Amino acid sequence: MHIRILSATLATALAASLPSTSLANAMSDAMAPKQAAKEAVDMATLARIRDAAMSSDFAYQRLEELTDRIGPRLSGSPGAAAAVALAAEDLRAIGMQVDLQPVKVPHWVRGAETGELVEYPGRPAGLSQRLVLTALGGSSATPEAGLTAPVLVVHGMDELNQRAAEAKGKIVLYDVAFDQQLADNGRAGNAYGEAGYYRFVGPAMAAKYGAVAALVRSVGGADYRIAHTGMTGWDADGKRIPAAAVSAEDAMLINRLAAKGEVKAHLTLTPQTLPDADSHNVLADLPGREKPEEVVVVSGHLDSWDLAQGAIDDGGGVAAAMGVAEVFKRLGLQPRRTVRVVAWMNEENGGRGAKAYFDANRGKLQQQFAAIETDSGSGRPLGLVSSVALADNKLLEPLKSALRPLGAPVIDRREHLGTGDLSPLEDGGVPCFEPLVDNRSYFNYHHTAADTLDKVDPDNLKRQVALLAMLTWYLAEMPESLQRLPVKAE
Ligand SMILES: [Zn+2]
Repeated sequence: MHIRILSATLATALAASLPSTSLANAMSDAMAPKQAAKEAVDMATLARIRDAAMSSDFAYQRLEELTDRIGPRLSGSPGAAAAVALAAEDLRAIGMQVDLQPVKVPHWVRGAETGELVEYPGRPAGLSQRLVLTALGGSSATPEAGLTAPVLVVHGMDELNQRAAEAKGKIVLYDVAFDQQLADNGRAGNAYGEAGYYRFVGPAMAAKYGAVAALVRSVGGADYRIAHTGMTGWDADGKRIPAAAVSAEDAMLINRLAAKGEVKAHLTLTPQTLPDADSHNVLADLPGREKPEEVVVVSGHLDSWDLAQGAIDDGGGVAAAMGVAEVFKRLGLQPRRTVRVVAWMNEENGGRGAKAYFDANRGKLQQQFAAIETDSGSGRPLGLVSSVALADNKLLEPLKSALRPLGAPVIDRREHLGTGDLSPLEDGGVPCFEPLVDNRSYFNYHHTAADTLDKVDPDNLKRQVALLAMLTWYLAEMPESLQRLPVKAE
């Protein structure tokens, strides 16, 4: 998942899914008599699609292949290349027209990564304490033998700016907690955005003040001492320094010790940034029967971080998108517009796949009718969120009654979704969609060594396929056109 601010509809979503359906059904039916006729046609097909998705293990089997046969899929790695080949093979096997779209991706490789506290108040002679940490994507390396320096603990950027003079020659630790209560109240994305900011800009800021390395408290709410990796950003001409995430527990330990006196840490991080590698987005088309030039994208990203299997981020998402194609093929459905499954490359550390797709469609963006991405985990879907024009929101209403049996009746709208891979398309005017997912525990495992298959509930994955398939069919069939969004200057 990309850093962004998610809207707070989870609470309403949960309320909405409580058994007041008969009233809601009555109200929506009363509200839109004209649509009844159209919905009937669409509704019948939507129900078939829903039932077909709920009775299929295809998506879970694709996910299990990705996690158990391939595992980590960091851009440029053999795992990512194998995933491209596997996804293409699986989509061809169900009769989709597959195209491998070339993408040049960054090739960052994790090396050794260890850390320990070697000096701290009250330290008995000869003792040191091991830190649980992992390098951030884009981190530079320490010397082979590592580096030792005092640690400067700050709790926000203001504090760092105020204490800038103290940062020179030190390891700066950003001890900023992930707000799990915010996540528990449906604002997991907000919590991620707030704490993730330090992961993304913290090391570059510390480097600016002369720090020799940077540590950030892991961006996740788990309390079982696990480190969360993720991308860190550098200014084009800025100095890069070694950067790692420590577990929340270790950040709190360093903070307590530093309150008592000087703390010194020894860090060894030996990642490498190799030359960009050749890779691909996997595109798979089900051509439209009436408007084949118009495309509805349904997608997830194929790459993952390298610490585990990338099951919730985003194996479940890309498998669910593939599941949409399987349902249409199994039911023998051919939509009005072309449906394109996209397995994006390089979402985690660069967004090059999204850029390559945008560049390839730059002059004909009008043909991109709508785009859907699922990259918020494989929790229970509660509805969907779109960035359609306000006037078009009502066009989605008929979907509600089809989604209600899934327990996903919420149809929410935001000015801008800003989901990682869809951002270039959305900024180019393409209306975008994503499922609204219960992601309260998503950030417990996000970007960690615990992002494994067992974290995905097969039933929730089926529900995601059902929701995505119904939404995709509805968009690919709808007689109306959706208004284009305002185009943002590049
Ligand atoms: Zn992701």
